[in-house]
Amino acid sequence: MRRYLFNMEKIKYVKGAKPRVDCILCAIRDRDPDVSALEVFTGERVIVTVNLYPFNAGHLMIFPMRHVEDLAELDEAEALEMHRVTAISLRALREEFEPAGFNIGYNMGRESGASIDHIHQHIVPRYRNETGFLDVLGGTRIMVVDPRDAMERLKARFSLIGR
Ligand SMILES: [Zn+2]
Repeated sequence: MRRYLFNMEKIKYVKGAKPRVDCILCAIRDRDPDVSALEVFTGERVIVTVNLYPFNAGHLMIFPMRHVEDLAELDEAEALEMHRVTAISLRALREEFEPAGFNIGYNMGRESGASIDHIHQHIVPRYRNETGFLDVLGGTRIMVVDPRDAMERLKARFSLIGR
């Protein structure tokens, strides 16, 4: 399983059932009270959230506010901000969690393993000795750092780095 970069469907939903909304990312953008918004940063066109079902501590998702399902449909302003916010995110993660590396990328289409149609970029911090950091039980990775705790730490870090 660890050979896959972004095989999100293999992750057990340890936090309970998915919220019933048309698009969870649009719902986060619209601050739907039914969605547990793990938002850590809001730009002009782009939002960053902690992944509710993370691979690793600090696993982030960056997505455009506009509901776009194809990376090629981002306009230039959105694409530029995605990149700028990615850079801010890398800095925040380095300062907060000191990862040894990152996997950064998009899944597009259900066949690629994407479980959300709304385009979103994953940033997955990678750590040395990940087996010492995480328990691997029957293919399910158990997080040591609670995503909500990671959210609070990253929120504070993002606000220090600023826009
Ligand atoms: Zn959407």
